[in-house]
Amino acid sequence: MDIDLSPEEAAFRDEVRAFLAKELPDDVVQGAARSPTVFVEPDIGQRWNAVLHKKGWLGYQWPKECGGTGWSPVQRYIFEKECALAGAPNLTVLGLKLVAPVIWTFGNEAQKRFYLPRILSGEDYWCQGFSEPGAGSDLASLQCRAVRDGDRYVLNGSKIWTTHAHHANRMFCLVRTNSDVKKQAGISFLLVDMNQPGISVRPILTVAGDHEVNQVFLEDVIVPVEDRIGDEGQGWTIAKFLLENERGGSCHAPKLSYDLEQLEKAAESESDGRGGVQADDTDWKRRVAKARLGIQALDMIELRIISRIANGSSPGPQTSLTKLIASNLRQEIDLLAVDLYGVVGLQLEAQRPLYGNSSPEPVRSRGAQLAAPRYLNSLAWTIFGGTNEVQSNIIAKSVLGL
Ligand SMILES: Cc1cc2nc3c(=O)[nH]c(=O)nc-3n(C[C@H](O)[C@H](O)[C@H](O)COP(=O)(O)OP(=O)(O)OC[C@H]3O[C@@H](n4cnc5c(N)ncnc54)[C@H](O)[C@@H]3O)c2cc1C
Repeated sequence: MDIDLSPEEAAFRDEVRAFLAKELPDDVVQGAARSPTVFVEPDIGQRWNAVLHKKGWLGYQWPKECGGTGWSPVQRYIFEKECALAGAPNLTVLGLKLVAPVIWTFGNEAQKRFYLPRILSGEDYWCQGFSEPGAGSDLASLQCRAVRDGDRYVLNGSKIWTTHAHHANRMFCLVRTNSDVKKQAGISFLLVDMNQPGISVRPILTVAGDHEVNQVFLEDVIVPVEDRIGDEGQGWTIAKFLLENERGGSCHAPKLSYDLEQLEKAAESESDGRGGVQADDTDWKRRVAKARLGIQALDMIELRIISRIANGSSPGPQTSLTKLIASNLRQEIDLLAVDLYGVVGLQLEAQRPLYGNSSPEPVRSRGAQLAAPRYLNSLAWTIFGGTNEVQSNIIAKSVLGL
């Protein structure tokens, strides 16, 4: 695997850098840096989306014929890396990276024509209705029922942990359309309009006090049959395709590296309580070095997956490996932050947002204010998109052949 950039790739990187230097707004960078949640709020995320859309770069992972850039896997990697190193917010994955590839792979022409441009323009904001109170890791046991009534389905049931459902006007949803067959075979994939009677969204606050996830209740909710993606009963195949993208659709290493660097900088002026600074503390240095090595190893694995994709293969079950390693590193780095700030790193500010003119004043520093809520929210990393145990099972079975 050749990891040196070609002259064309280096020129592309410079173009991306120049664009970011000019077009990435400072307050968006600040908003991203001061968001303790997994996703940034739409006021930050959608602003950045709009800047990229105007430039024509929002669909950086999309094929050209669908309105995307048609970039190579290496260009996408360069773009993600430069965005991470510039402090840009993570893009809202649910529309751009999860449902969009499903629509262009399994959808019909009318669905592609209608839905894809609305994702790029920001007109549609999506949430993911997969998990249910009794179906998380064992997703195929889902019970939300869709009963066919002429040219429409009538949905009843509930979805849980639905990220940003309170912001979304659309939800892609797995539903049970048949209970008389093997459980995986009775699932279909529907696109639900959230702005209709029968849908209620109840907030679930995270352990840090943030409103990021919800429970969504569906009572006689109507979905036209034309908003089913693929065939009836094909939902499980589509869900597996989507989950592979969810676990490995982005490179995590550059962002982790950026966050670790920010911590290293902060450690240079943070007292160790013994007259020196944390940056010189031996245990601190050991932990930073361990995290740095982990990030470098993850970077290599992610580059290998990119190289596979560039050679025409699908990302494959190795994405479970990157999800597992990235989640552990995320938590390791966020714990480092709590430890860096000592007692003041334990403050748990309840007010939101922590960016903008009306953000609450921190005790001592912004870094200290963010440390505990960020650490608490990042506990979710080893749960969402499939828990660490579930990823380990996939790796054991599909990667190691055990
Ligand atoms: C912050 C956050 C955001 C989320 N956002 C969304 C969203 O937008 N849309 C959505 O649909 N879902 C979302 N989820 C749900 C997430 O996908 C599920 O929480 C996850 O799949 C685990 O399911 P569960 O919570 O039901 O736990 P369970 O499946 O009940 O698991 C409980 C424990 O048992 C372990 N376990 C289960 N099965 C096995 C096994 N076979 N082998 C070994 N151990 C096992 C698990 O690892 C876990 O430790 C989100 C979750 C979180 C925390």
